[in-house]
Parts: sequence; structure tokens; C-alpha cells
Amino acid sequence: MEAFIDPLTELLKRRGGNALLTEKTQTLPKETEVGVIMFDIDYFKKYNDTFGHEAGDSCLQMVGETIRETLQQRTKLLIRHGGEEFAAILFDTNEAELKEWAEKLRMAVYEKRLEAPVKDVADYVTVSIGTSMEKLMCENLHYENLLIEADKALYEAKRAGRNRVASAGK
Ligand code: GH3
Ligand code: MG
Ligand code: MG
Repeated sequence: MEAFIDPLTELLKRRGGNALLTEKTQTLPKETEVGVIMFDIDYFKKYNDTFGHEAGDSCLQMVGETIRETLQQRTKLLIRHGGEEFAAILFDTNEAELKEWAEKLRMAVYEKRLEAPVKDVADYVTVSIGTSMEKLMCENLHYENLLIEADKALYEAKRAGRNRVASAGK
């Protein structure tokens, strides 16, 4: 299990996410709609620079907790994708539901009211979110491939000003 769980946030590591995803793809119908929510903490480098690396770690823990509080009821696939990047994968979903969860998550992080290191976007720490919808039956539904479109949308959310949700293909 150690290889699957990130000790800092207690979320799945990529490898854990991939294992759980493989398990799911073997049991769910091929036409299942898969939703991806990918997000990244805004100005996190500045957070470390301003408050220190330890405070940065606490911030990551807090964000991890927030994801769990918000999404655990809906999915077990909650992943610390990389340093300050996270992902959630939802099965049997649609655009509207996916957006709703993404907005809930965005607001839940803001409502933790962790002081932001730069306040041009908001006074508190925020996240930018990208979402995408995939079909389980599409080829190459490997974890890394699943996140490509959501990652592009995430980039759009950053570019458009951060602290927002952007959806792939829109
Ligand atoms: P943006 O708003 O565009 O996302 O900017 P950013 O500063 O958040 O993005 P960038 O990718 O430049 O910085 C990410 C930072 O996350 C850099 C790295 O030091 C920090 N980081 C990554 N993993 C950890 C960790 O485990 N602990 C702490 N404290 N910091 C981490
Ligand atoms: Mg990043
Ligand atoms: Mg960031």
C-alpha cells in the first residue's frame, strides 16, 4: 500500500491511481462516461517562498483534506498527481455534474481561508481546475492519457486568470 499512498496528503499516488483505474476499467461497462477533475494550487512557489517549505507542506495537507471532505462521498480515485497538482476521477458522470463538483472543490479550498502569498487573485489560497470527459471504451485509457485533456483545460484556467474552472473542448 505504501507504494500507492502519498504519506503527506494520504491521497493516492499516480501509481495508486493507475492501479485503481485499471481495476475499474475491468469491471465497468465500456460506455461508462469518465470525468476528470485536475487542479493545481495557484502561486504555490510563492507560498513556499513567503511562508517556508514546512508551511507549504501544511498547505498541501490542507488541500488534500479538502479534496477528501468534498469528493470522497463521490469517488475513491483521489490522487496527488505531482507536487502541488491533484486529480479526481469520477465514473458514470456528465458535464453538468462534473462542473458542479469542480466548483464545489474550488470554493471549499477558498473557504479554508489560508492566507495567500500574493493577493492579486484572492486574499486566500486558491486552485485552478481543468475538467474533461472521456469514454471508458476509448483506447489507451491509461491514467496518464486520461489526464491529457484535463491538463490542457487546467492550463486555460491558469491563463484566464486562475481561481476558476475550465472544461476541455470549450
Ligand atoms: P501557478 O499559479 O502557475 O500554478 O504557479 P506555481 O507557483 O503554483 O507553480 P510552479 O509549478 O512554478 O511551482 C510549484 C511549486 O510547488 C514549486 C515547488 O517547490 C512546490 N512543491 C512541489 N512539491 C512540494 C512539496 O511536496 N512540498 C512543498 N512545500 N512544496 C512543493
Ligand atoms: Mg504546478
Ligand atoms: Mg501551481
